[in-house]
Amino acid sequence: MILRNLTVLGSTGSIGVSTLDVVARHPERFRVKALTAQNRVERLLEQCLAFQPEYAVMLDRASAERLQSEISARRLPIRVLSGQDGLEFVASLPGIDTVVAAIVGAAGLRPTLAAARSGKRVLLANKETLVMAGRLFMDTVREHGATLLPIDSEHNAIFQALPPAYSGDLAQAGVRRILLTASGGPFRNTPLDALDQVTPEQACAHPNWVMGRKISVDSATMMNKGLEVIEAHWLFGAAAEQIQVVIHPQSVIHSMVEYVDGSVIAQLGNPDMRTPIAYALSFPERIEAGVSPVDLFRIATLNFDSPDLVRFPCLSLAYQALKAGGTGPAILNAANEVAVDSFLARELPFTAIPRLIEHVLGTVGTEPVRSLDDVLQADRNARAAALEWRALSGKASRASVTARK
Ligand code: NAD
Ligand code: MG
Repeated sequence: MILRNLTVLGSTGSIGVSTLDVVARHPERFRVKALTAQNRVERLLEQCLAFQPEYAVMLDRASAERLQSEISARRLPIRVLSGQDGLEFVASLPGIDTVVAAIVGAAGLRPTLAAARSGKRVLLANKETLVMAGRLFMDTVREHGATLLPIDSEHNAIFQALPPAYSGDLAQAGVRRILLTASGGPFRNTPLDALDQVTPEQACAHPNWVMGRKISVDSATMMNKGLEVIEAHWLFGAAAEQIQVVIHPQSVIHSMVEYVDGSVIAQLGNPDMRTPIAYALSFPERIEAGVSPVDLFRIATLNFDSPDLVRFPCLSLAYQALKAGGTGPAILNAANEVAVDSFLARELPFTAIPRLIEHVLGTVGTEPVRSLDDVLQADRNARAAALEWRALSGKASRASVTARK
């Protein structure tokens, strides 16, 4: 048994909390050396008290100061840092071997890259890193001898269903296709003309999974599955045509690999992120994760359907961005983040999310990616275009409301 020293990036989020739940079950296997959060001081303080890390990082400087005074008052030997530099510092500490990348969105890119550059075992939940900078990130992993283990449940399932020594070449492994399952989210059966009116609360009430707000909205639009297609492309070397999305409302099969001999290998489990997190933490071993066994007699039926691209235009937009290549997926990701934030802030209706993204993909030109700067520039350009569209469409919808009165 190897003792692993961990940094958990985004420890106060849904994946971060599930990670610490698994870690706490195995004190002999894991030491938490660093925890990070954006601005939730109380939650990070609680985690510091429970896990006694060497470092605690808050992105927000004022939050870091508040945490520092709490830590000082208790005379704890924990160094408090802040900002992007602090995140990158704890992602590359010499004293750690494993980084759980569980920050949400583009904010996770730099610290996750820093972990890869330092040759760590990178347990990747932050799919946006691969969407924005897939080639760059995969090259960094290879060049610096890092190990990449997917936490996203579908990719963790595919990782489990591929041959153990999978080299990145599907044809050589005898694989025909990857079957990426999707629940279809909370609006799979909602009448199309009611989608305009759905609220953030409804969008965040996922039928099977409890997750952060951004990925919950992504699941409701199925952009999450689009991002996962791009994630699978980079992780497993699969062309867009080799990745088939399969609607599977029960979320029991977490994905499948179809081989040329007709075999299909699936990974099943209850929808609980502690299973893929535990597998990534302990790979190649297996550890107890606190997850109850699948009760096949209770589940009884598994259903499958093809995705409805009229209902879920975000899925097509993601395939389109992947095929465009270069900065296309980074533009898609940035536009989506602005759209989701705006929907959560009740500034845009749900159905405006794909409209905004389509507009941005059509206006911001796709460029080749030579460096991280190219990715960050595309991200900025796409956000600017998205905010401009939002301002104009906001005015237009206010005008139409006034006209109706
Ligand atoms: P969340 O919103 O619950 O948590 C996000 C974490 O990131 C928090 O700790 C927060 O403090 C931190 N954070 C947010 N913005 C930050 C910023 N600008 N800088 C630094 N830290 C910041 O999100 P989540 O649901 O845990 O998702 C995390 C990642 O894992 C996402 O990329 C998501 O797509 C992926 N993922 C989540 C699930 C799930 O079940 N929740 C499943 C698969 C993949
Ligand atoms: Mg997933």
